[in-house]
Amino acid sequence: MNQSLMLGILSVLLCAIAIMLYRMRKKVPTHTLLLVLLLGGSITLLMAYPVRKKANTTTKDKRQTSSINVKQTQSRIPSITQCSCTFRTIKLKRDDYRKQHLPRAISLTKNAYIYNESNKSDYLRKGKLVAVSTITGVHFEDMKNSSRHLTPLAYKRLKELGSLFRAYLKGTKNEKSMFVISSMTRSEEQQEVIRRRFPKTCTYGKTTHGFGVAFDINKIQSPNQCYSCSNALQKALTKMQKEGKLMICPESGCIHITIIS
Ligand SMILES: [Zn+2]
Repeated sequence: MNQSLMLGILSVLLCAIAIMLYRMRKKVPTHTLLLVLLLGGSITLLMAYPVRKKANTTTKDKRQTSSINVKQTQSRIPSITQCSCTFRTIKLKRDDYRKQHLPRAISLTKNAYIYNESNKSDYLRKGKLVAVSTITGVHFEDMKNSSRHLTPLAYKRLKELGSLFRAYLKGTKNEKSMFVISSMTRSEEQQEVIRRRFPKTCTYGKTTHGFGVAFDINKIQSPNQCYSCSNALQKALTKMQKEGKLMICPESGCIHITIIS
């Protein structure tokens, strides 16, 4: 039987005997009463000692095991610095969302807006949208309210951005860094879910995410430090922006990119 359980049962029994003796105190002499209580207390203490010792040992063992696990995890996975990507951390030129991003997304896709899943499947079948797979220099977050689809041109530009970002880091300690995409293509149905959940921060009306030509970058995963990575991303984005391939604007906790040509 478990020692702690035995100790518990013994304590309850001793309490019951003590109460019984207290009620019979007029019939039992005081020294007998004290002797029983003293004896009971000593037995309980003797039983409690090994339990406490064992409990301490177990805790220590657990601590040692967990310390070994942490060391093993650290040796298996190199530490990664997460660098935030916003207009506060990266210096970029803003393009107006309503006046520039949206009209260009509409003209580029000939207003092929994604309303729902069947609409999206239709675009995928026709090749207007493609599934986005692994890209060098790009990490995809687990996207709950958007999907990894883009128009073929936007996909090409994202690969170009990833290569350019890596090219600026080549030969440095950060050459394996990746920028992280937190959101990509959203149907109107998915956009509606976000509107209900985040009414203050969400875009109202049509979004360029609904045309398969936009994505959000929310951080950079760097094995070393943030400065050179942020600088590389800034240079890559600015170069493509100047070449007229994409537009940039800040969003809540991330940088929004719309591919325009
Ligand atoms: Zn966005």
